Amino acid sequence: MTHKITLIPGDGIGPEITKAATKVLEVSGVKIEWEVVEAGLTAMEKYHDPLPQEVISSISKNKVALKGPLTTPVGKGFRSINVALRKEFELYVNQRPAKSFKGIKTRFENIDLIIFRENLEEFYSGIEHYIDSSRSAAETIGIITRRGSERILRYAFNYAKKYGRKKVTAVHKANILKFTGGLFLDIAEEIAPEYPEIQFDDKIIDNMAMQMVMNPNQFDCVVTTNLFGDILSDLASGLVGGLGLSPGANIGDGVAIFEAVHGSAPDIAGMNVANPSALILASVMMLEYLGENEASKKIEKALSNSLEDGKHLTKDLNGKNFVSTSEFADALCQELEKMV
Ligand code: NAD
Repeated sequence: MTHKITLIPGDGIGPEITKAATKVLEVSGVKIEWEVVEAGLTAMEKYHDPLPQEVISSISKNKVALKGPLTTPVGKGFRSINVALRKEFELYVNQRPAKSFKGIKTRFENIDLIIFRENLEEFYSGIEHYIDSSRSAAETIGIITRRGSERILRYAFNYAKKYGRKKVTAVHKANILKFTGGLFLDIAEEIAPEYPEIQFDDKIIDNMAMQMVMNPNQFDCVVTTNLFGDILSDLASGLVGGLGLSPGANIGDGVAIFEAVHGSAPDIAGMNVANPSALILASVMMLEYLGENEASKKIEKALSNSLEDGKHLTKDLNGKNFVSTSEFADALCQELEKMV
């Protein structure tokens, strides 16, 4: 079966890492017909629209997309296209795994945790303004709903049950944000007893940040609201070797967009030094979503072998003796060819 998938190369390091990821997917033998569309800065330059209708139509039709990172102007300019896409397709789950790889030296070993971040609500709703024209104050409204909290919490518990994970930790700031954080925590406590086989606990965000850098192995599935999830998932990626190794999936009911946790990395764009592993691991998640389990396992294993072998590592993983993005992808394809 040929899968028709939307491909958004993105900007910054996006085109370099999507080229590497699509090459690996091709070698895996999975038949994919890519529909390439532009969004963000590239679309702005070409069409004066950061989110052309063509992108929406393509994802609506294909239901699955692989996306390179998209730059969002800081403090001005157009709103995040990443956030807009999540909203457009109601992709309420942001699933971000962080897993240790043998051969990648970090402070901790055997980390295997997944952050489930609520992807649509709270401070990412875009309800914000200056209170007057002299910008004497600004206000951002973070809305948490029962429906939004319930569906992300249920997704995390159902995932834990399906994949035999042991524990779900709900993270919040309900001691201070008594209404928004309080509602999220209340719903977590209401739902948890429905899953007696899954251990449940909760942590206040500040304590969670400390616990994650002191003893990350205690965590399994972590479920939290949008902003905390965004920050904790970068923290989690730092525990396993950095942003170059952390994939993410934005999932809704029937549509999913797969991407790296990291952004467009303008500081290294166009230099052929970016690590494409995060987007390759996002492709692994995508294949699993498509039911191509065998190919997804083979790519993951080939990547794991390649990282463990350590002869072809990108600059972020070995600053002294490194290969380029394309050389990394070539070495990985050779490893994968042994398995297919
Ligand atoms: P970033 O993730 O782009 O980069 C942070 C640091 O990590 C940089 O030093 C960068 O060089 C390094 N890095 C990131 N990915 C790497 C890789 N694959 N290999 C090697 N090193 C890597 O974060 P930023 O600089 O804060 O953001 C840049 C832009 O990306 C901003 O416009 C931001 O809004 C956007 N962004 C987009 C997404 C997305 O598309 N989903 C996610 C996060 C940030």
